[in-house]
Amino acid sequence: MVRNRNIWVEEDIIKLEMEAGLENKKLLDHMGIKAFNVLGAVGSGKTSLIEAAIEKLKRDYQIAVIAGDLVADYASERFKSHGIPVVTLNTGKECHLNTNQITGAIEKLKPGTVDILFIENVGNLICPAEFYLGEHKRAIVVSVTEGEDTVAKRPVVFKTSDLVMVNKADLAQVMDVDPDKMVNDALVNSPLAFKTSVRTGLGIGQWIDFITNTYKGKT
Ligand code: ZN
Repeated sequence: MVRNRNIWVEEDIIKLEMEAGLENKKLLDHMGIKAFNVLGAVGSGKTSLIEAAIEKLKRDYQIAVIAGDLVADYASERFKSHGIPVVTLNTGKECHLNTNQITGAIEKLKPGTVDILFIENVGNLICPAEFYLGEHKRAIVVSVTEGEDTVAKRPVVFKTSDLVMVNKADLAQVMDVDPDKMVNDALVNSPLAFKTSVRTGLGIGQWIDFITNTYKGKT
């Protein structure tokens, strides 16, 4: 009985968070901001992929980042070096960003000064996937260094994504991993997936297209 009740309470919390997430989305829409929630394990390369996008987009769009992590300062400094507004959320022991934190962070952005907002979530793939923060699109980053079966093992997580980037593809051979298998595994549950490498530039154009098409309302 106790066990059932716990599951019930957890479902209630997730439902309340979903409603709060939709409120965040309304707020973002009102401010004319398109938000991208970027999920991935520690070391998957979330920060570098967001930085690559900032570099390509900052001439044409006003960009901001919410950097969330157990200790977010490191990524936060990297984002700030691009001369854009950054809201840092140190989550401490929490394994995910919650909607309240995001509401507070959005309210720190000056209306009319942001077109595109990247939310770098806490570095794990399990828990953050359960929480909708109000983002327009959700991108999951998975690195070939995490192993060829990483995607196939976690279908539920990938079902929540709008895009999966199989990152560090330049290391696939060294890791003895088939990155195309990872892409195909991702496509079972996600509408879009491709290989990326910040080092070689592979897939960065597709990542940029995904962002700008979302901004322009094409997807
Ligand atoms: Zn969590």
